[in-house]
Amino acid sequence: MIAGLGAVALLALAAATTAAQRPAPRLWLERRRLGARIDALLPQSQCEACGYRGCRPYAEALASGAVGVDRCPPGGDATARALAEMLGEERAGATIAARPRLVARIDEDWCIGCTKCIRACPVDVIIGAPRQMHTVIAAPCTGCGLCLPPCPVDCIVLEPVAQAAADWRWPAPERGA
Ligand code: SF4
Ligand code: SF4
Ligand code: SF4
Repeated sequence: MIAGLGAVALLALAAATTAAQRPAPRLWLERRRLGARIDALLPQSQCEACGYRGCRPYAEALASGAVGVDRCPPGGDATARALAEMLGEERAGATIAARPRLVARIDEDWCIGCTKCIRACPVDVIIGAPRQMHTVIAAPCTGCGLCLPPCPVDCIVLEPVAQAAADWRWPAPERGA
């Protein structure tokens, strides 16, 4: 009986804590709407390079102010600027943190044609058929790396792409300089 009352009290406390943590309904609705507008600006690659489980979770983190606009490599600087414009002046001027562009390459001698990488690629840039060698179409590959873990023979690697004149940009100036 006492144990039962204790469990009820614990449940009531947990519910009260969750309710206290949840934003007020109106604020929650505004964030959801802002998240949807932000999501519409994102490339929808679902590559998780931003550190979130897809574009919509990143959009919702942006809507809550928990993260910066510079986390989406597939969207590049154009998306960062569009997000900064939508979200306010204090985030303007943000650029994507410089990182080498990576693409996946399959070592075709080792590929056993299991198709697991095809199913893992969010942008559908791996071609192949069951029990046949697979390959990556390099140009649209975002370098997200999601195809690597499912490969049972570890024959996929990420490699940096040599920088071309079209990719080069001036480095960002030092803050306060
Ligand atoms: S990095 Fe960009 S494209 Fe990839 S999941 Fe995040 S928001 Fe979407
Ligand atoms: S091939 Fe691999 S690294 Fe390239 S986009 Fe698809 S899952 Fe990402
Ligand atoms: S997961 Fe690895 S072995 Fe399977 S098809 Fe892709 S590259 Fe080949």
